[in-house]
Amino acid sequence: MLNFKSPSNRDRILALAMRQIEKMLKDMQNDGKDLSHLKLKKFQKTHHIDCKCKLCEEAKRKNDPRLRGLIEDGFKVYVDGGKKSE
Ligand SMILES: [Zn+2]
Repeated sequence: MLNFKSPSNRDRILALAMRQIEKMLKDMQNDGKDLSHLKLKKFQKTHHIDCKCKLCEEAKRKNDPRLRGLIEDGFKVYVDGGKKSE
């Protein structure tokens, strides 16, 4: 039985997921895919600059944009190629 609310179970599931991802990436690499520029980025999309919700008002008052309300919160995986300026 899975209990997602127990922290120790959550850690175990996370560790399992990480191992699966690692395996998948290794398989891709073995298939000849170039993963040397693979990047994992956390992305957050905040509310509009003029938003007047509680979170955004608070963020404005504290002058901390990280406190703004979020529309999206997640991760993006991409292969960074071609950009030579960075
Ligand atoms: Zn807002």
